Amino acid sequence: MKPWQTPGDFCGGIPLADRKSLSCEAPIRFAGTPHHLLYPLDLPSGHRAVPIVRAGDSVKSGMPMAICPDGFDPPICATSSGIVIFQEGPSHLGPDTPLIGIETDGLDLKSPPLPRLEGEALCPEQVLERLHACGILGMGGAGFPTNEKIKRLWGPLQLLIINGAECEPFLTCDERALREKANEVLRSAELLARIFNIPRILVALESSRTSAMASLRTALNTGEFSLCGLFALPDRYPAGGERQLIQTVSGLRMNGGTHPVDHGMLCLNVQTVLAVGAAIEKGESLTRRIITISGSGIQQPSNLDVLIGTPIEFLLEACGGIRPGLQHLILGGPMMGFSVSSTQIPVTKTTTALLVLDPSELPAPSNAVEQPCIRCGACMDTCPQGLLPQSLHDQVRAKRMAEVESLHLLDCIECGCCDVVCPSLIPLTDRFRAGKKLLRRYLADERLARKAQSRHQARLARLQRDQLEREQEAEARKNALGQGAQPQIQEALERARLKRAQRLNAAKDSGKTDDSEPN
Ligand code: SF4
Ligand code: SF4
Repeated sequence: MKPWQTPGDFCGGIPLADRKSLSCEAPIRFAGTPHHLLYPLDLPSGHRAVPIVRAGDSVKSGMPMAICPDGFDPPICATSSGIVIFQEGPSHLGPDTPLIGIETDGLDLKSPPLPRLEGEALCPEQVLERLHACGILGMGGAGFPTNEKIKRLWGPLQLLIINGAECEPFLTCDERALREKANEVLRSAELLARIFNIPRILVALESSRTSAMASLRTALNTGEFSLCGLFALPDRYPAGGERQLIQTVSGLRMNGGTHPVDHGMLCLNVQTVLAVGAAIEKGESLTRRIITISGSGIQQPSNLDVLIGTPIEFLLEACGGIRPGLQHLILGGPMMGFSVSSTQIPVTKTTTALLVLDPSELPAPSNAVEQPCIRCGACMDTCPQGLLPQSLHDQVRAKRMAEVESLHLLDCIECGCCDVVCPSLIPLTDRFRAGKKLLRRYLADERLARKAQSRHQARLARLQRDQLEREQEAEARKNALGQGAQPQIQEALERARLKRAQRLNAAKDSGKTDDSEPN
């Protein structure tokens, strides 16, 4: 690994044309209720949720419909009212992902909210339970359950970072949330900070997001939010990556195995903070999120307040449809998002954007003809994780997994920076994504092999121990028998001697000798 740059900035990264002007002035508006809402049962953590409703059941907004068997992920809740349906359907998680759905009734009936947490109920344990019950998870993309993120904490929290950086081009939903709901964001953040005794809050966003900065400054100038401050990030992708953000804000370089809470820092996305506030103060489940619909293929680029589960077809219609000839759909940003082929795919809690682009607008050209690596080192200079992409690529292609692991492939955040700068047009990030799957399988096999080896050694040790114990017991029995039998043996010898003496005497008395008697 190469050394990191000066504390206060992150290493590598690239400036990207931000393309945010398309949608950043579009105020947030409600997209409406579609006829169907769809929820993939496969969760971001890799678990599959188990339905607790049956086809034909009536549900209301906020009602749990499926739960994670081990309780790690929060429940999947209905986001409007209607009748439950089930179907196998397309999803960005894979074509075989089972879906649970609702045929909406248009009434948008809500199940009663949980009681507001206040007084003694406003304690960390109850707040964590509430976050789970209300389905709160990281809405910036990773989808890690927020209560689990806080639970990992082993010491006091020193800093709450609100991640307002939208470093991917086109994305403006968090910026709009900050511009329109600055007071709400800061109030929720202070509430969370007071519950978990966090002395300081920083709202971090790129220095170019001046309107959002101005809204936050106006809110801060009221003097209502004494714990909060602002932090301007460099306008360089991926400034909003969690590790890059922590590095920039605190100067701390986290190594692969640790998380921000291990270092006393909690990092939450803007919309996650809003959802946390609504769960604690209003008992509301997470049923909606703001997403950006943008790109040159969209008639009316927008920031929409969307019911989770809304098929993207409905959102395209809500934005005036697609311009003729442009069909390249991306769910998420152009760097880390996924190309999708179906407009039936639903919005999830982690969907940040829906883009319709001309392939030429992608930062890294897709379907380009790959050339051999020329060892220019550009990928290494640009990697924000300090990795060696060209060496990683060689080892991944050769499937040398031990080397791949030692080159820290699992630290790759799949940001795509190396793809953008590679003059040989090598699809490095795709290869690393596939390599990670191989590496995880290899590590799992290694773990199993190690486990089997240690079980085998434990068995050998047990057999040796048993053998030794058996030998010791036999020896002890022999010794015990030997010592205990001495008096009887002496008595028997004595009896035999007496008997012989009596016979000899008897023979003498009768004048004959018994020749058969041994001397
Ligand atoms: S995709 Fe991975 S290897 Fe490439 S620049 Fe990003 S973190 Fe580095
Ligand atoms: S940028 Fe591309 S060509 Fe240059 S060293 Fe990296 S992989 Fe090789």
